[in-house]
Amino acid sequence: MSLVESLRDGELLLLQFANPPVNGLSHALRSGLYAALEQADADASVAAVVLYGGPKAFSGGADIREFGQPQALAEPNLPGLCARLDAMSKPVVAAVDGLALGGGLELALSCHHRVVVGTAQIGLPEVNLGLLPGAGGTQRFPRAVGLATALQMVPSGQPRRAAQLAALSGQLLVDELAESATLLDQAKALARRVASQRPLARLRDRSVEADPSELAAAEAQAAALPYPAPLACVQAVRGALELPFDEGIAAERAGFQRLMASPESAALRHAFFAERAAAKVPGIEADTPRRAIRRVGVLGAGTMGSGIATACLMGGLLVDLVEPDAAALARGVAALDKHLQAQVSKGRLSADKAAALRANLRPGGDDAVLADADLLIEAVFEDMALKQSVFRRLDALAKPGAILATNTSTLDVDAIAAVTQRPADVLGLHFFSPAAVMKLLEVVRGAATAPAVLASALGFGKQIGKTCVVAGVCDGFIGNRMIDRYLEQALFLLDEGCSPQQVDQAIEAWGFAMGPFRMIDLAGNDVSWRIRQQRAKDGTLRRAQPLADRLCELGRFGQKSGGGWYDYEGREAKPSKAVAALIAAHREQLGRAPRAVAAEEIVDRLLLALAVEGERLLAEGVALRASDIDLVYLAGYGFPRWKGGPMFEAQRRGPEALAARRREFAALAHDDPQFWMP
Ligand code: NAD
Repeated sequence: MSLVESLRDGELLLLQFANPPVNGLSHALRSGLYAALEQADADASVAAVVLYGGPKAFSGGADIREFGQPQALAEPNLPGLCARLDAMSKPVVAAVDGLALGGGLELALSCHHRVVVGTAQIGLPEVNLGLLPGAGGTQRFPRAVGLATALQMVPSGQPRRAAQLAALSGQLLVDELAESATLLDQAKALARRVASQRPLARLRDRSVEADPSELAAAEAQAAALPYPAPLACVQAVRGALELPFDEGIAAERAGFQRLMASPESAALRHAFFAERAAAKVPGIEADTPRRAIRRVGVLGAGTMGSGIATACLMGGLLVDLVEPDAAALARGVAALDKHLQAQVSKGRLSADKAAALRANLRPGGDDAVLADADLLIEAVFEDMALKQSVFRRLDALAKPGAILATNTSTLDVDAIAAVTQRPADVLGLHFFSPAAVMKLLEVVRGAATAPAVLASALGFGKQIGKTCVVAGVCDGFIGNRMIDRYLEQALFLLDEGCSPQQVDQAIEAWGFAMGPFRMIDLAGNDVSWRIRQQRAKDGTLRRAQPLADRLCELGRFGQKSGGGWYDYEGREAKPSKAVAALIAAHREQLGRAPRAVAAEEIVDRLLLALAVEGERLLAEGVALRASDIDLVYLAGYGFPRWKGGPMFEAQRRGPEALAARRREFAALAHDDPQFWMP
């Protein structure tokens, strides 16, 4: 079946795309459209053509199902299709509703006229995949909207509403705004009006109006970014200003091909597909029943409970926040209000909307209200006996079919589920702090968790805007189990001769948002200290950390106590003489002479520690796939997206290079040979 339907309406030919969900420009759609345009051009009874994609989408751009496949580039390719539109002898009008993004917008820009629904999303998001728009977008878009808007939108990839763009750019981008219901009629009326108009209104024949100083500023801004696509976007747009159209197109093409071969684009495309893959979970099908979640009960209004309640409210849910300690409840609600207020101040939320969301909160000390909740999330102190008693109580209170979740970071979800009469309804929902902001949500599947419960929890996560990754039960799940190994290596590097700032600087220069020592200073060194003490008692401590213990004994918990691995003035981290002395004394105790450690070794130790533990999580079945692990690090740990994630980075290096590095690290007897060897 052709993905382009042809319909005659007098002297007009309507070509309608039919490639759900967003009319991705697959090879079949491109071929159908190309052939239909050829025919229309040759048919003397056709005076003008209208392209239409339906009410949901004109086109979302390249068909992602073809990504990396030979069909993606097969003729007719998108640049060829746009050139074919340029060669038309009669006008083509694009009727745009829903969205015109990426290649979809490039196609619309190659038409002679555009009638667009005001709410339609217009944008060139290629930069998010480390690419630039490669089918004339960098040449035609600046001609349509002017240099300033193009320089804002192409290197950032951010879409805008058509009505807003139309107001900015006159009639070149949007000939006429329309309502969805009248779009086709308006487009046809326009097509009839312009049917005999010559010359045809081609954007390629126009020039760009510009103030070149805008270019220099955009170039400087893009050059400061750590991956090449934004700068390449600006440079391609510069071509629209300085080169004849066809030369600009050739330069754009060359830039596109360079970026396509870049490791950063490969990593960004990997990240994009990791997000899609994570939603596919074995045992969960489209027809797996989902339970409706409208009312959420959150237990505990501490750091996490308050943040989780905020995230649920922002997602439009009804929330009961239950906390027995009145002062803690007041603090939790105040933090929630502060977050909502900040959203209003930043213009992300209207005051009315914020008030409406806030009205969905019922804070209180009595847990009886939890009988109404569809989902209960426990965020009380991290203590197994307490959590088990809370779950016995929830089991007695909750209505049949309610889902019971724990936000534990380290405790065994199965042991918590086991105290209830309904372990199939129990799972872990591991949020990250600050829970209202952090994207990552580890959805922890217990041994007994029912598929419907897991599927419903994933739907809930999506509703509140989280990036969900399914993990099995183990100490630390995916993210924290790996970060423990990473932090062990960071501390080992101090033993070897590094300073905290040297370690942080090396990994930050590589691309991490924050090095390990700044990170634990922010999270609080006391948290892991308490966990180490508990594990030492239980006999489950993997590796003693006397230096980190000593830091905490001195009360240096981190930013919140004014000092940790650094001294703090506000949030600013300053190298600490006290810590340098502590490290020196510790080395002396170990009898270890400090050695000079290269930045490359620092980076490799930290990265490979993540990848090695990630491999074990895969082997144990805790993580479903390597890309899920990458996603955990991209969404929750400030791993640079343009590096793809720890597993992607390890794979990029290749098995031989990896094995050699592991052997090298294992050979240091005072390291942890067992950890490094397979
Ligand atoms: P917190 O100490 O800030 O808050 C815990 C709250 O639970 C307190 O306000 C306490 O009064 C309340 N509480 C105690 N018993 C209760 C009960 N029976 N019913 C209702 N409320 C009760 O702790 P937190 O940092 O919010 O951590 C809560 C949970 O989230 C822990 O399991 C922790 O491991 C987990 N977690 C914490 C983080 C983090 O970064 N803080 C991240 C992920 C998960």
